[in-house]
Amino acid sequence: MSDIIKLLPDHVANQIAAGEVVQRPASVVKELLENAIDAGATTIKLVVKDAGRTLIQVIDDGKGMSPTDARLSFERHATSKIIAADDLFALSTKGFRGEALASIAAVAHVDLKTKPEDEEVGTRIEIEGSTIKNQEVCAAPKGTSIAVKNLFFNIPARRNFLKSDAVELRHVIDEFQRVALAHEAIAFVLYHNDSELFNLPKTNKRQRIVGVFGPKTNEKLVPVSEETEIVNIDGFIIKPEFSKKTKGEQFFFVNDRFIKHPYLNHSVSAAFDGLLPDRARASYFIYLKVNPKTIDINIHPTKTEVKFEDEQAIYTLLRAAVKHSLGQFNIAPILDFNRESNMDTPYSYKNKEAQVPKVEVDRHFNPFEQEQKVKTSGFSSAPTYEKKSAAGWENLYAGLDRKNDTSNFSHVEIENEPEAESLFVEQESKGFSEAKETESDSANTYQLHNKYIVSAIKSGMMLIDQSRAHQRVLYEEFLRNITVKESVSQQLLFPLRLDFSASEIDILKELKDSLENTGFALSMPEAGVLEVSGIPASIQESEVSIVLEQLLSDVEQEVPDTGFSQTDVLAKSMAKSMAVKTGEKLDELSREHLVNKLFACTEPTLSPFLKKTFITLTIDELDRKFNA
Ligand code: ADP
Ligand code: MG
Repeated sequence: MSDIIKLLPDHVANQIAAGEVVQRPASVVKELLENAIDAGATTIKLVVKDAGRTLIQVIDDGKGMSPTDARLSFERHATSKIIAADDLFALSTKGFRGEALASIAAVAHVDLKTKPEDEEVGTRIEIEGSTIKNQEVCAAPKGTSIAVKNLFFNIPARRNFLKSDAVELRHVIDEFQRVALAHEAIAFVLYHNDSELFNLPKTNKRQRIVGVFGPKTNEKLVPVSEETEIVNIDGFIIKPEFSKKTKGEQFFFVNDRFIKHPYLNHSVSAAFDGLLPDRARASYFIYLKVNPKTIDINIHPTKTEVKFEDEQAIYTLLRAAVKHSLGQFNIAPILDFNRESNMDTPYSYKNKEAQVPKVEVDRHFNPFEQEQKVKTSGFSSAPTYEKKSAAGWENLYAGLDRKNDTSNFSHVEIENEPEAESLFVEQESKGFSEAKETESDSANTYQLHNKYIVSAIKSGMMLIDQSRAHQRVLYEEFLRNITVKESVSQQLLFPLRLDFSASEIDILKELKDSLENTGFALSMPEAGVLEVSGIPASIQESEVSIVLEQLLSDVEQEVPDTGFSQTDVLAKSMAKSMAVKTGEKLDELSREHLVNKLFACTEPTLSPFLKKTFITLTIDELDRKFNA
């Protein structure tokens, strides 16, 4: 047999590697910005056209490249940043793999111009899909300009998988912001389709954050600072009252590199514990400095994860630092661990004698009284007791797993039978007989654990997940409204003014038509402000910001390969945030309404997220359970 293994030609290998490094325009932005920083630039300009599809250009005033280096920079594993394997453990640069330029050049048209400060002339190189088309001497200012055009021109599948311009631009802006926030001493400018989105002069950290997120951010920031042997912590948290409902601004930087770190995120959240409104998340900009030898960033070119040597200690230190700031700025009671607690005792108390705490006892209390009342009063003749007993009944099951645990329902079924009533009323436990009470008034449906709607059907019974069912109903309603353009809108007497970042406003602009079809009336009277003068009939005014924030985060989180339309994402997102939740009590009418609407849907069996909306239990199945 002849040999069949061959080495891949370079351009093929590069294209494969590019699949990992370059996933979307934002990946190119990240790599080029980082190269410019590594080159010691003090001013970096990013120019983007059509969210990066047509052009991504980074112009820096860094150290430039010699003609040979310029040529070599496009070779795979060509880097000036590490020489020996040991260098990997003490990285002070962003790049080190020498893969980025080779990968980018494999999937785009690249035009590079570069000149070191002390050279007379510069070098220009044009590459298309790893093939050098032109190299010449050129006039150029000090520094490097790399223009990446027609990204994925030779990989149509990739190109087609790109999301709408609004989404791709959002990712580009995210990368830009992360880099800009980490390097306040470098000036950054971002242009998109000839309009200037950001112009950030060299400044300090606080002003940089304000420059990125708008002037209103300044008053929301509380400084955090802590120096220890293991880690230096610096940065800002956002005051709890300004926290956002669905996602916040959550930025960790380690040695000037943006990272995501769920464990450390938890540490900051823990420090905020009890200070945030329901469902809100802590927002922060935390800059950590550690010895580069104690972290491992060598995980994956596009990943933002980092491994710390002493994660546990950093967790504790970070939580204490954030708690301390919250206390110091009078946001939470001071928790100063270094101070003796009795120093906090008010002066006037010093000489007072301690008193024995008093315990008061109600001697007339009889714990058996209530139970007797149930026994004597029967079920239907005790209306005042009904509410309480319902809650008591809930508690019976509170500790149980709330999944489709069908074993619970057998109780309910028994109690439905009139004969069972007389059988169990005297002997059975309190909760057991009370369960009967709550349902005696509902004719066709019954709500279980404020989560499932139980409904009798011809063949047996049906259990409907209330939240999923409602999601399905709303989802189809929104889809219909968006396409047919007829929805009910309630006009607000006083329009709501909501703050959003420039990039969020861009996304909202793109969604404006669809949103208006669902019943919203929106305008953007000034930069960073969304004015809402009408809302869909199905939502409350107080829910508007939650719905919109959820929508923005859903649109942003859309991955490039899922191939769903914007309309679909919108309908799903709104259905998710507006549907009744598990734990909400539904009255008889709402239950019936929901069930009827669910079964009027085109696809009643699944939620928009493809989860079962209901299950059935036939009499046969029940019988079998009893006889098993
Ligand atoms: P890495 O950054 O991992 O070294 P890249 O492929 O991103 O790999 O870049 C290869 C090399 O090209 C870098 O090591 C650097 O020497 C040079 N280079 C890239 N961009 C610039 C720039 N903007 N200015 C100066 N040199 C650059
Ligand atoms: Mg690089």
